[in-house]
Amino acid sequence: MWCVIAHYHELALKGRNRSILVRQLINNLKLATRDLDIISITSLPGRIRLQVENGTDISQLWKSLQLRISAVFGIANFSLAFASSIDPTGDLDSLKEALGSVIYSQQFQSFRITTKRGDKRFPKTSMDVSREMGGYIQELTGRKVNLTNPDLTIYIELLIDSAYVSFARLPGPGGLTLGMSGTTVCLLSGGIDSPVAAYRMMKRGSRQIFVHFHSHPFLSRASQEKAEELVSHLTQYQYQSMLYLVPFGDIQRQIVLCVPPAFRIILYRRFMIRIAEQIARQHRAWALITGDSLGQVASQVPDNLAVIEDAAQLPLLRPLIAMDKIEIITQAKSIGTYETSIIPDQDCCTLFMPAHPAIRPKLGLIRKFEETLDKETLVQQGLGSIQKQEFRFP
Ligand code: ATP
Ligand code: MG
Repeated sequence: MWCVIAHYHELALKGRNRSILVRQLINNLKLATRDLDIISITSLPGRIRLQVENGTDISQLWKSLQLRISAVFGIANFSLAFASSIDPTGDLDSLKEALGSVIYSQQFQSFRITTKRGDKRFPKTSMDVSREMGGYIQELTGRKVNLTNPDLTIYIELLIDSAYVSFARLPGPGGLTLGMSGTTVCLLSGGIDSPVAAYRMMKRGSRQIFVHFHSHPFLSRASQEKAEELVSHLTQYQYQSMLYLVPFGDIQRQIVLCVPPAFRIILYRRFMIRIAEQIARQHRAWALITGDSLGQVASQVPDNLAVIEDAAQLPLLRPLIAMDKIEIITQAKSIGTYETSIIPDQDCCTLFMPAHPAIRPKLGLIRKFEETLDKETLVQQGLGSIQKQEFRFP
């Protein structure tokens, strides 16, 4: 019987919460594979098993499973495995039969066997098993054992009443199980950076609620379409997403009336934060996430970062703060958001903006400008005209 054996990082799952976390990881695997021919997903000691429905075209299914499982955070590595029952007395006949039936799918001249016992009650040591199974395969196929540089490594995992044989171990994405770090609200612009920030938070176990501010109808719908496409793409990592589209043009117009050009971007950002924070509270999210990277543009120099953050009551996290643009772009490419992010659009922050934003604003001055605005009404105005979209994967 075919199955997939997935290993998680032991360290990430320490302590009392372990069983809750394994359950969460199993639940995520179920969501990630819900449209595929998997009949059950269960926890075995130290690993998780996904059982494949009998009679499935395994090579086709394996291709889909590789894509899906390599996007499940918390998985350290995984392999396609053939399952065999095993005799607790230490007799290996049924394991030999199982391995014999699948070894012919492999092309190799030399091999080695790596055995791991998941249960130390099994009467033979890993070394005993590797030696005995190696002798058997040598006899069966005429191929040579090569411990240092074999064409094929055969992995055997022994549990108390079952064993699993596999030929390759693929890396998972690592990270923490999605959901174990609660929910955070990501301010998603449609640019290169914020989708990467969202990804990095998801990889640390935090579900994202997305908020995009746009200046339609003053500007085109392009930024909204990009935000939708980005969220749709990122949903493969969290299975279900919500995107809030906030019309921001009218709010910007009112800011523009009271604030000199050089300070506008800072007020735009402070109002974005206030609105996002209300959404965060509705979802019991514990922090806000942005794609700021230190010094990248005027609004991301030290003084501005501090003045913008002052508008937040929840923690404002900036996962990319110490990354170079090149590093961010490399990651955007590897997670598949780059191509969407570089489609030309009109970001709302370009509306009514000067060529040279202030880089050393005084917080007191910014607060004075805001006193001339009806903050509460502006925030409610943004929240009142919000549009909500839901996404699901697969
Ligand atoms: P990005 O590539 O994410 O757009 P950027 O380098 O262009 O970032 P800014 O445009 O200054 O930088 O935005 C900094 C951060 O502020 C963004 O990463 C995002 O988190 C947030 N932000 C900016 N504009 C918007 C918007 N229209 N909607 C939601 N969040 C935004
Ligand atoms: Mg931007």
